[in-house]
Amino acid sequence: MKVHNFSAGPCILPQVVFDKMAEACLNFNNSGTSILEISHRRKDAVEVMDTARALVKELMNVPETHDVLFMQGGASLQFPTVAYNLLKEGGKAAYLDSGKWAANAIKEAKRFGEINVVASSKEDNYNYVPKGYEIPTDVDYFHCTSNNTIFGTQMKEFPTTNVPVVCDMSSDILSKHVDVSKFGVIYAGAQKNMGPAGSAVAIVQKDLLGKTGRNIPDYLNYATHIAKESSFNTWPVIAIYGVMLNLQWLKEQGGVDAIAKINTAKAEAMYAEIDRNGLFTGTANVEDRSQMNATFVLNNEDVKAEFDAMLKEAGVVSLAGHRDVGGYRASMYNALPLESVKVLVEVMKQFEQKFG
Ligand SMILES: *Cc1c(COP(=O)(O)O)cnc(C)c1O
Repeated sequence: MKVHNFSAGPCILPQVVFDKMAEACLNFNNSGTSILEISHRRKDAVEVMDTARALVKELMNVPETHDVLFMQGGASLQFPTVAYNLLKEGGKAAYLDSGKWAANAIKEAKRFGEINVVASSKEDNYNYVPKGYEIPTDVDYFHCTSNNTIFGTQMKEFPTTNVPVVCDMSSDILSKHVDVSKFGVIYAGAQKNMGPAGSAVAIVQKDLLGKTGRNIPDYLNYATHIAKESSFNTWPVIAIYGVMLNLQWLKEQGGVDAIAKINTAKAEAMYAEIDRNGLFTGTANVEDRSQMNATFVLNNEDVKAEFDAMLKEAGVVSLAGHRDVGGYRASMYNALPLESVKVLVEVMKQFEQKFG
């Protein structure tokens, strides 16, 4: 039976990615060696890294002012890395507290300087994206989270400011057009929309570096990875290979603008059913709803077991909401086909006929 995987991350990837990764585990590039047993400095491994970086540049239209780096430690290690590289000794930074990951980023940055939280939606369990806040002009940067994976909210626009904007795009990178030139740093853990777990991407405006007066450990210094072309130390060839294959797939689909149309169609179908169906309620503020993660709850928890049984029967998996929100979360990343959303919507309709 075909399974419809709505996992929030690590998440569904295109079938071709799985096929080629499986093949590479046995015999990479017909070399007689597995991709798991080769040096990251072997010529065809270097090609994987170079291709992955070039594809990010191409698909996101990254300007010459920026470089694309793959690092380890996921998005979580980018939280302190960003502060290490951009927050001056004795300096200040502004942060938007729009969700749990944003709060984690704030916690890490506080180790490095004074953090001004410009707005927070924490008191409403992060069910909306704060707006109308002011970003001070005397901060080293402003940090925000484009998509709040757990709560199902997404920034529809980014503030205009003279300070560098740093954005955690872990769960919506490459899902729609973004003007990279407007950002100082964009980073993302790979496992939501870019590839398998095991790497993070950082897109860094080069002229922002080297100004903090800090003695940055080599690995955490963006400048190191720029100089070494993302091969400072041993990187996970299989993980970056997965990213590369996924980016190649995305390019074949017509790139970011083409996939954005499909993502919009998926989200529209999903939210239309959440709003139409009397047995469910969406948890996120309507105007801030995420195209990637749709969060909703059952109005009557007494029939939860019945709904869950119907989901299972239809092959819908990993729909459980995060424990901080409860209910359900339909994650609709690039690789999730519209067909899977249609299956889920159909289950919700049938559920309403039985229990509505
Ligand atoms: C998942 C997630 C993270 C954490 O990613 P890791 O790679 O596990 O550290 C950070 N930010 C956002 C927005 C996320 O969705």
